[in-house]
Amino acid sequence: MSETLHHYIDGKKVQGSSGRFGDAYNPTSGEISAQVPLASADETSEAIRIANEAFPAWRDTPPLTRARVFFKFKELVEKNLDELSELVSAEHGKVLSDARGSVIRGMEIAEFACGAPSLLKGYFSENVGTNVDSHSVRQPLGVCAGITPFNFPAMVPMWMFPLSIVCGNTFILKISEKVPSTALRLAELLSEAGLPDGVFNVVNGDKEAVDTLLTHPDVAAISFVGSTPIAEYIYQTGTSHGKRVQALGGAKNHMVVMPDADMDQVADALMGAAYGSAGERCMAISVAVAVGDQTAEEIISRLVPRVEALKIGPSTAPDSEMGPLVSGEHRDKVKGYVDLGVEEGAKLVVDGRGLTVHGYEDGFFLGGCLFDEVTTDMRIYKEEIFGPVLCVVHADDFDSALKMVNDHEYGNGTAIFTRDGDTARTFASRVQAGMVGVNVPIPVPMAFHSFGGWKRSLFGDIHVHGTEGIHFYTKLKTVTSRWPTGIRAGADFHMPTMK
Ligand code: NAD
Repeated sequence: MSETLHHYIDGKKVQGSSGRFGDAYNPTSGEISAQVPLASADETSEAIRIANEAFPAWRDTPPLTRARVFFKFKELVEKNLDELSELVSAEHGKVLSDARGSVIRGMEIAEFACGAPSLLKGYFSENVGTNVDSHSVRQPLGVCAGITPFNFPAMVPMWMFPLSIVCGNTFILKISEKVPSTALRLAELLSEAGLPDGVFNVVNGDKEAVDTLLTHPDVAAISFVGSTPIAEYIYQTGTSHGKRVQALGGAKNHMVVMPDADMDQVADALMGAAYGSAGERCMAISVAVAVGDQTAEEIISRLVPRVEALKIGPSTAPDSEMGPLVSGEHRDKVKGYVDLGVEEGAKLVVDGRGLTVHGYEDGFFLGGCLFDEVTTDMRIYKEEIFGPVLCVVHADDFDSALKMVNDHEYGNGTAIFTRDGDTARTFASRVQAGMVGVNVPIPVPMAFHSFGGWKRSLFGDIHVHGTEGIHFYTKLKTVTSRWPTGIRAGADFHMPTMK
C-alpha cells in the first residue's frame, strides 16, 4: 500500500484538495511508493498568502536570531542523517553513501547560513559631504520560491532555502513531484529548530503550481534548477512578471584528458564522475575528450573492464556502486539514446542495455554504457542523456579539445586532467564554463563559493549559494544622512557636488 503525502504549509501538514495526484516510485522495486498531491492554483496561492503574512515579522527578526534557527537545524540534520539519506536513496535510487554525501553537501549551506550576521553586514562612509554620511545595507525581498529537480531531493532545495530564509525572506519550495518525501521531512526539522510557522512552506505540484508561483504578484524571486527547456521558460515567464530569477539548466560536462595525465587517476575519476548516481548529476562527466589516439586507447582499455564489473543493485544495499534510474520512463529515454548512438555509428564498447538485477526485475535498472569514437555531429554528443552513458571523443590536440568544450551549447562544469601547469592554466582561463576542475572531475563549489554554469546551463546572472546567493536573496539600499539638522545648506537647484 502506498501512502498519500501532503503539503507543508504554515508549520503544518496540509492534505491536498485539488483531487489530482502524481505517483512517486521506489525505483529499486519499480513499485509506487506514494501518492503525491498536485496543488491547484488556489492551494498554491494560499501558501503564498501565508508566506506573505509571515514576512514582516521574520524580516524584522534580528539576523543573529534567524541564524540560531540554522545552528539548531544543522544539528537536527546531523542527528537525522541516516533517515534523510534513506529517504533520498529510496525515492531517487542513488546509493546510500552517495545520498548521504548529498545531504551533507546541502547541510553545509545551512552551516554557511549561520554566518548571516556577518554576511549581511553593510558598509558605512563618514563625511561623504560636510556632515553627511552614507551607509548601505542589504534587505530581504519578500516571498521567494524554489522549484527543484528530481536528482537531488535534499541538496538542491538546501542550495536555496537556508540562505533565502536567513536573509529574512519567507520561502515556498515546489519540490520535484518524483521525490517529495525528503523536503517534507526537512520542513518538519525546520519547525523543530524553531522556525516560525509560515516562513518555510512545501507545496507539491506540477506545472499548475509552478505557473502560479511564476505569475503571482506577491512572489518576489524564483530560484529554479532543472532541465534547460524548463529553465528557459521559468526565466522568461518569471522575469516578464517582474521577478528576480536564477534558473539553472542542463549540462554536458566534458573532461579533457591530456596525454601526460596519470591514466589510472583518469580512470578512477571517470568511473565515479560518469557512473556515480547512475549519471543523474548535473555535474556528471558525460564526455571524455581524449587528446591523441593513444590517450583514447589507454582510457578505453582501463574503463571497459571496470564498467562491465560495476556493482549494480538496490540503492540501499551497502555494496551497490550504482542503483537504478529514477523512473521507468527516464530509464527508457536513456536506453533510447544508447540505441540512437549505435544507429549514429558510435562504437558501443560496453552495452548495459540487457541488465536485469536478480530479485528486482521490475526495478528501473540500466547497466553502465561506454561509447568510443563519438563525433560532435551526433545527437548523443549534443544532447544531455542524464544516465550512466559515457561518450569518448577523440581530439588531435589541446586547441581542438578546448574548442570542442567551448562550442558546446552547455557550459555547466568541465575538467582537465594533465600534469602540465601551463596547459591547465590556459584551460582554466579560456574555457567557457562556470565551474572548472583541474585534476578534479566534479568541481562542485563548496557552500562559501557559488555554484552555477554558463551558456544554456544558466539563465540569469547570479549563481547559487556563497556570496552570490546572499546577493540574490537581498536588495541593496544606500542611505545618505545629514546630521546635525541645525546647519542650513540653503536651496540647491543643481546636482549636489562636493564644493
Ligand atoms: P525538469 O526540468 O523536468 O523539472 C524540474 C522542475 O520543474 C520540477 O519541479 C518539475 O515539476 C518542474 N517542471 C517540469 N516541467 C514543467 C513545466 N512544463 N512547467 C513548469 N514546471 C515544470 O528536470 P528534472 O528532470 O526533474 O531534473 C533533471 C534536470 O535537471 C537535468 O537536465 C539536470 O541537468 C538538471 N539539473 C541541473 C542542475 C544545475 O545545477 N544546473 C542541478 C541538478 C539538475
